[in-house]
Amino acid sequence: MSTIQTSNPATGRPITSYEAWDAERIETAVQRAHAASRAWALIPVAERASRVARIGQALRSHAGHLTRLVVEEMGKPLAEARGEVDKSALTADYYAANGPGILADVRVAVDGAEAWVSYEPAGLVLAVMPWNFPVWQVMRFALPSLVAGNGILLKHASNVTGSALALQDLCVRAGLPEHLVTALLIADADVPGTTARLIEDDRIAAVTLTGSNRAGAAVGSAAGRAAKKSVLELGGSDAFVVLADADIEQAAAAAVKARFTNSGQSCVCAKRFIVHQDVADAFTEAFVAGVEELTVGDPRDPGTQVGPLARNDLREAIQRQVEDSVAAGARLLTGGKALPGDGFFYQPTVLADTEPGMAAFDEETFGPLAAIAVASDEDDAVRLANATSFGLGLSVWTARSARGIEVARRITSGAAFVNAVVASDPRLPFGGTKRSGHGRELADAGIREFTNTRTYWIG
Ligand code: NDP
Repeated sequence: MSTIQTSNPATGRPITSYEAWDAERIETAVQRAHAASRAWALIPVAERASRVARIGQALRSHAGHLTRLVVEEMGKPLAEARGEVDKSALTADYYAANGPGILADVRVAVDGAEAWVSYEPAGLVLAVMPWNFPVWQVMRFALPSLVAGNGILLKHASNVTGSALALQDLCVRAGLPEHLVTALLIADADVPGTTARLIEDDRIAAVTLTGSNRAGAAVGSAAGRAAKKSVLELGGSDAFVVLADADIEQAAAAAVKARFTNSGQSCVCAKRFIVHQDVADAFTEAFVAGVEELTVGDPRDPGTQVGPLARNDLREAIQRQVEDSVAAGARLLTGGKALPGDGFFYQPTVLADTEPGMAAFDEETFGPLAAIAVASDEDDAVRLANATSFGLGLSVWTARSARGIEVARRITSGAAFVNAVVASDPRLPFGGTKRSGHGRELADAGIREFTNTRTYWIG
């Protein structure tokens, strides 16, 4: 019998061990979830929206418990953990208020008949979710999908199994039917193909995944083989472009926030800082000073800004990326080492003189590691920003917004922010281009992803 073990990344000590489900238990869960999703689809959208509003209330009343779980299971600093619970509650409010309107029938004028488009439930959706925002990543998919009339099978990341179970309980407490949101306890998602078998199952309508390109490719190809819809929200290596006319103090302070939020473990963290040569020295100096002021420590301490990495293998991956990049010619300006002692802490690190061909530039760096590259002019900045297989977010800094928009139009990404740090917002679509994935979450686009856009023609 295999087990799922969670541990506290701030100490390295085990938290809880869960028995992973065998094939029979998974089958029972799929049957129940499928039945629950069929019944849910028949409930009017206004009623579904009011139940989602109650999830928002439940998130608020259980915020303390959820926050502690997130801190304990993945080491997120306290205020940020609370922030993801609060943002999830706001997103419940947003979809409770706006979901029914977005999903309302759209009349279309045709000759000699009545016609309209309906957005009907897709069915039971498998959600493969990551550990970096244990509450928010699940909720930003689940809330719109529930309003849309779907059921959810949640295959959460193993290291946040406690959070997965807490969210399942919270949905029931908020008044959702039992089994409509079911957390599956699966160990070794890809071995021996449990997730792929679920995707092939006729009772499962579609799949969404947030996580690495490796997992996304596995899930996306299984969905392709089964001819099913998939939404993939994968990694990013977002460029933070600083033009020559930018306010350097402001840009450097924003850059620290953009890179080190969630201890650097966010798909939309800025990862490559592409700076015009005229301001490269001033920016680098201010940025490094800001990075060296960050407080690294116990994520339960309200003063902590950077916590541990969520697992030791993730810390080892950062160490390897730093060493490979330095060996290839990058210059280490600060950090560059694991912190001694318990837990998976890593020094906030800045590399200068990075360029395409180096690990810190080419790969997604999922931790407290910033890569600076100097651009000779604006065209060179655009070239460097585009020199990546990813295309999730982009942030451009300049004294003239119109110029920032012009530069942004030449760089491929799912979101472009000018003089602002990239962040998701329930009112705006979120998703990637290139190897950052496909499909959108949040806003109108996100709720419609998992609906059947159905044509009616009444002659
Ligand atoms: P993974 O992509 O491996 O994990 C994300 C989810 O996918 C988990 O639920 C995991 O399950 C599941 N999974 C993994 N492999 C498969 C598979 N073959 N088939 C089906 N499901 C699968 O991320 P890691 O935790 O290993 O992180 C590795 C890297 O991924 C990070 O360093 C970062 O670069 C990137 N990443 C990006 C995220 C983003 O927000 N875009 C989020 C997390 C990671 P299980 O936990 O059981 O293995």
